[in-house]
Amino acid sequence: MVRVSEIFGPTVQGEGPLIGKPTVFVRTGGCDYRCVWCDTMFAALPEHSQTWAPMSAEEILDQVKKLSGGQPILITLSGGNPAMQDLEPLIKLGKSQGFSFSLETQGSIPRDWFSQLDWLFVSPKPPSSQETPDWSQIEACVNAAGSADIAMKVPVFDEIDYEFAKSVEKRFPTLPLYLQVGNEQTSTEDTKALHEHMIGRYRWLVDLIARDQWYSPTILPQLHAIIWGNERKR
Ligand code: SF4
Repeated sequence: MVRVSEIFGPTVQGEGPLIGKPTVFVRTGGCDYRCVWCDTMFAALPEHSQTWAPMSAEEILDQVKKLSGGQPILITLSGGNPAMQDLEPLIKLGKSQGFSFSLETQGSIPRDWFSQLDWLFVSPKPPSSQETPDWSQIEACVNAAGSADIAMKVPVFDEIDYEFAKSVEKRFPTLPLYLQVGNEQTSTEDTKALHEHMIGRYRWLVDLIARDQWYSPTILPQLHAIIWGNERKR
């Protein structure tokens, strides 16, 4: 059984290489990190575990199918840290029925079944998170992904994070790198203020890469935060 925090969609992927792609999210419960700016604490902290439903692979896929109208769709495995749980039966079952899978993790727990994913997105947490990435585990995650498409994604909140992102590229020079504007305004109800903030931070980040003539990464806003603010289930 998998502890599931929420299943929602169809919506579009708001981050990383699949930005804009229609998807259903399966958000698992539980995380081994405690990033200070985490915007999904309801899926990370054990005190929310009473809201997590134990579900079999069949039950999860049935729920996804209800949402997708029975059509195969990209399933985004997110969390929390989805690598904490055994998602191999779900991936096998879904792929046998035409679904594709991406998984987003901070890279702390490598799993053999990463090789069955279509995409693995590893997001080493920068210094502003107040967590410390374990590079040997991140490397093991990348190696476990085999022929899956892999990309690195770093949220950037400040210039120290930005320098950290450069170090990620040095460690993994062959992997595509995505810089994601950090959204520290997790509690604002004011969508206009959030827009202005996110756009300002995006411009700030573009100015940095232009200043440094660093042209290899892709710079993305948090699309879902711009479109839907900090609403959940989008
Ligand atoms: S790794 Fe992700 S889910 Fe876990 S605490 Fe950090 S931001 Fe939240």
